[in-house]
Amino acid sequence: MKYLILTFTFFFININFSQEKKIFFESPKNVYYISSDLHIHSVFSDGAVWPTIRVDEALRDSIDLISLTEHLEYQSHLSDIPHNNRNRSFQIAGGYVQNRPIAVVHGTEITKPMPPGHFNAIFIEDANKFFDKKKEPLSFIDGIKEANNQGAFVFWNHPMWEANRIDGIAKLDPIHKEVIDKKLLHGIEVVNFDTFSEEAMKIALENELTMMGTSDVHILIEWDFNIEKESYHRPITFIMSKNQTIKSIRDALFNGDTFIWYRDLIIGKSNNLKQVIENNLEVVSKGYGYRDRKVDILQVELINKSVAPISLNYIGQYTFHNDYKFIELEPKSSKIIYIKTKKVKEKVNLEFEILNYVVAPKTNLKTIKTITIE
Ligand SMILES: [Zn+2]
Ligand SMILES: [Zn+2]
Repeated sequence: MKYLILTFTFFFININFSQEKKIFFESPKNVYYISSDLHIHSVFSDGAVWPTIRVDEALRDSIDLISLTEHLEYQSHLSDIPHNNRNRSFQIAGGYVQNRPIAVVHGTEITKPMPPGHFNAIFIEDANKFFDKKKEPLSFIDGIKEANNQGAFVFWNHPMWEANRIDGIAKLDPIHKEVIDKKLLHGIEVVNFDTFSEEAMKIALENELTMMGTSDVHILIEWDFNIEKESYHRPITFIMSKNQTIKSIRDALFNGDTFIWYRDLIIGKSNNLKQVIENNLEVVSKGYGYRDRKVDILQVELINKSVAPISLNYIGQYTFHNDYKFIELEPKSSKIIYIKTKKVKEKVNLEFEILNYVVAPKTNLKTIKTITIE
């Protein structure tokens, strides 16, 4: 068994980017935004599809990194698909990857009633070790300790789930505080499937937990998320990694270097979103003039390089010639605005609030763009 696991993990040390991949967001030169979905089920717990389908779905969605996080404690297909080896789903998906531009990392979902609820452990080595000698699942504390012993990144799943919290409000119970204090818990889902929790975001910020967003898909991804049928893309966590190795990606997760693309929202820590907007919103001067007239009105092009919209609220002193302060930039688009700067200037600062970039509950990212006029 050990031999098999080692063989499989060996293949996924680097993500193979040799094939064409979709660029969701531009990143700085030495940073890679690894697109990930680290909460997925297959028939090896309560999902409806075979593990290889998850790999194919992720490839279609240009996802770089997935983990099949089967419930340890909830196995609805066990009588039809008996399996003593809880690593099977990872082995099947991992063995199927071959030279495709995707990595599968080993994970599992520790599934307890609330409190404490459900927890994903990612980068585990052996899911069978989450059971005692009688083949019973370990207690929550022993399970989360085992995950940490295996070097796993552990995050709290759907703390806002209405089946667990009748009011949908994520909050900490003493058991959660205990695992945070003991540094056994490293992240929290602020987005799960079709829910976004500002309360979970507050917990993340106050306790230095990494923000995560996942699909938690059980049926076909297309049935839950299909942009052509006017539902949204799956939630994607972008891991801001120094390179494409699994080590660097894991380090970034532990460091809190993530942002989440959920519906039209970009969610994450302020510093992380600052980097995203710096690299994806470009503001270029086209000089003074309006139509054919040489007047003291500045023409500026706003460019959105990302796959998500950028909803701007201009909060500076100027007024525009055509637009009000709200400016919507569609994905991968540009727009010309005319700024009445009163005097002709060599440099103009434009201050914006980005209405769909969320950095804390009820708080949007602010940014200043400096334009040099030639
Ligand atoms: Zn769950
Ligand atoms: Zn789940």
